[in-house]
Amino acid sequence: MKVNAYGAYSGDRFLEPLQITRRDTGPDDVQISIDYCGVCHSDIHQVRAEWEGTQFPCVPGHEIVGRVSGVGTNVTKYQVGDLVGVGCIVDSCQHCDECDSDLENYCDNMVGTYNFPTQDEPGWTQGGYSQKIVVHERYVLRISHPEAQLPAVAPLLCAGITTYSPLRHWNVGPGKKVGIVGIGGLGHMGVKLAHAMGAHVVAFSTSESKRNTAKVLGADEVVVSTNADQMAAHAKTFDLIINTVAAPHNLDAYLTLLKRDGTLTLVGAPATPHPSPEVFNLIFKRRSITGSMIGGIKETQEMLDFCAEHDIVSDIELIRADEINTAYERLLKSDVKYRFVIDNSTLSATSLIQGKYL
Ligand code: NAP
Ligand code: ZN
Repeated sequence: MKVNAYGAYSGDRFLEPLQITRRDTGPDDVQISIDYCGVCHSDIHQVRAEWEGTQFPCVPGHEIVGRVSGVGTNVTKYQVGDLVGVGCIVDSCQHCDECDSDLENYCDNMVGTYNFPTQDEPGWTQGGYSQKIVVHERYVLRISHPEAQLPAVAPLLCAGITTYSPLRHWNVGPGKKVGIVGIGGLGHMGVKLAHAMGAHVVAFSTSESKRNTAKVLGADEVVVSTNADQMAAHAKTFDLIINTVAAPHNLDAYLTLLKRDGTLTLVGAPATPHPSPEVFNLIFKRRSITGSMIGGIKETQEMLDFCAEHDIVSDIELIRADEINTAYERLLKSDVKYRFVIDNSTLSATSLIQGKYL
């Protein structure tokens, strides 16, 4: 089946309309008609070949929500018409320790939603900036938010789970002081989720303009990270700091804010490394620097259900597919509150012709 999509033919070209092939719906597959797809900073890293190994043409997008439009004969969990999501994972080996522990995100053979090897045409996966996707039912998530919230649910599939997973892993809850660094797509979800879990939340931003909105998101305090006095006021007080920044920077500024046994978790994935931190900032207080990658399918479902129960969605700006290149430029300037989401109905042939893109 051919479907309309938006993607790039090389790392130095704009994204443009193209057509891709989706496989026939196999016995264990769910075919999804995509309504909305969030725009993650990882999409830019990959489509611009900032990380190694991008295959072109590259169709990004791993914050997918839509409706089931077909199911295979073995599928039991979903029916045509169900509201569902697909995040960053569309396959894994299904028999290693990680898969058996519901941690497919750490499976050595995890298949990401785009730019990962697959038997399907053209040999690598193609993501959610497209009209339809076909995914094994194991990697499909159920959405129980009200239908009207669907566009704002999309970013939960990556930004939501990537911050939820470390918050859970490091047992965040009442009595814990948590910092979230970089109030972008991931960071704004981190603030909302940590707040809902009952922690004392401090948002770290380079943008003075986010001070008021970060409080609305649920931050108890906001620190402008370029202000040394504001940073020093929080020295040795944090249990956990989650760092979402997409560019290399000085990690010591945050390590010194951790109390004894505190943890700095890196989720931001800059294309070039951070400067190496000062060892004494680790050994003096037995502090840790760790990383965390998205979350497993079971935990992603748990996160979606937690968000539905607590009425949590992303703050979004809805765009047409043909606005994606402008959206990327704005995202790189931190000029979005807080996630762009594509209205995938604008990928229809009629929309593209009206927009003079075909
Ligand atoms: P984003 O919306 O661009 O947010 C990043 C935020 O970092 C910006 O809004 C900005 O916040 C801050 N920032 C940007 N440049 C900075 C700089 N030079 N110095 C200090 N702060 C800076 O991006 P995102 O979609 O949240 O993604 C963030 C990173 O996480 C990306 O590298 C992405 O690839 C990665 N990621 C990782 C995972 C994972 O599994 N680990 C999953 C998804 C994404 P302020 O304006 O508040 O300073
Ligand atoms: Zn992402």
